[in-house]
Amino acid sequence: MSIDKLSSFLAPAYENFPKGRTIGLVVLRTSLSELILRTEGTGEPMCREFIQAGLTDKKIIQRLVMTKRKQVAPERRRGREFLRAYDLLYPSKDASPCSLNTNAPCEMCVDCFLYGFAAGGGGAQKSRVWTEDAFSLLSAADGLGDRTINAIFENGTMRDNKGNPSTALNTSEYIKPGVHFLDVVTLKDVTVDELRYVIGNILLTSRYGAVSSRVGRMENQILGIFGGIAELPSSLELVQAVHDALTASGAVLEHPFESNALITATKKAISSWKNKRGVSVQLSESELEALIADVDRHWSESEREPFLKRLDLSYQPFRHAPAEGKKGKGKGKAATAEAGN
Ligand SMILES: [Zn+2]
Repeated sequence: MSIDKLSSFLAPAYENFPKGRTIGLVVLRTSLSELILRTEGTGEPMCREFIQAGLTDKKIIQRLVMTKRKQVAPERRRGREFLRAYDLLYPSKDASPCSLNTNAPCEMCVDCFLYGFAAGGGGAQKSRVWTEDAFSLLSAADGLGDRTINAIFENGTMRDNKGNPSTALNTSEYIKPGVHFLDVVTLKDVTVDELRYVIGNILLTSRYGAVSSRVGRMENQILGIFGGIAELPSSLELVQAVHDALTASGAVLEHPFESNALITATKKAISSWKNKRGVSVQLSESELEALIADVDRHWSESEREPFLKRLDLSYQPFRHAPAEGKKGKGKGKAATAEAGN
């Protein structure tokens, strides 16, 4: 069983203190539609960064960036949809159900235990899912498109009955379909069920960025899984290594770039990572497939509910009701006893 190969880097049960067990995931994120990843708010430019093209190719290029927040927020929301469906989100200190981006996490649900929280009342749980900015393989100039949205007249065209053109309503920049982002995700001291939960969230999330009801389709693929006592090389180092490999022959990379060529180059680049300090095992191709099949099975219609309930139950000995500031401590304990049964 492929999970057995990772067992020395997985926690047998949840515990409060870190023990250095590290699982690394290499994720390829590909846009399947227009995608909008702005810093914050409208009118802001798309997230991008000037960086060295490769590890050996010292040319500076501008790459598109998918920030940590833009990755994790939709993935957490995806998992939380199912926690909500099975009634596994707990009331927060103000009695509202646990919710993201508010000052009132429940501090008791799977999401709070795994992805962490910082509560106003002083409680905090460090996230055990460590992410970093993911970078596009190609330059920002290759991956960006510009669209001018014109008003359409009643006759269905952009000219009125007298032949006057409509005025531009809006010019907006978007990331084209087919843009690849390479990403490294680190999981610290997670149990096997937590690993299944995080991978499930990554594989089941299909919308990212702004206006995600209309644009923002993405596909995530896991290209590698590692176990060890240290983090893998960063996603920046990965994208640079892949850039070097693909341009070594003098080839010029152009959009749209063929996914299979990228996948092959990435798998080759990460195949030497087992020799890096603190990285001990990499799942083979067939072990990786078996693990993804195992995750799919746990998230399937028949197994999802018992799986999530079992994961939820694993935190039971560690549950405390949210602290209500210093004065409310006593009350919080009473609530724990109640919630505990
Ligand atoms: Zn919670």
